[in-house]
Amino acid sequence: MTRTTYRCTCGARLEFKQDLEKEDALTRRRWKCSQCGTPVPGQFAEKISHQHPS
Ligand SMILES: [Zn+2]
Repeated sequence: MTRTTYRCTCGARLEFKQDLEKEDALTRRRWKCSQCGTPVPGQFAEKISHQHPS
């Protein structure tokens, strides 16, 4: 199983759901880095949001 990771501009490595901060908008979900609040591209965020440490 391949794991998606995303390197944020602040240097944080986003790998699991808790590394993201969910922002509920009316029309669609947006995700941000939990460290700095920079928006994370959707194609990464959607995958990361399904990843949990086990
Ligand atoms: Zn960040």
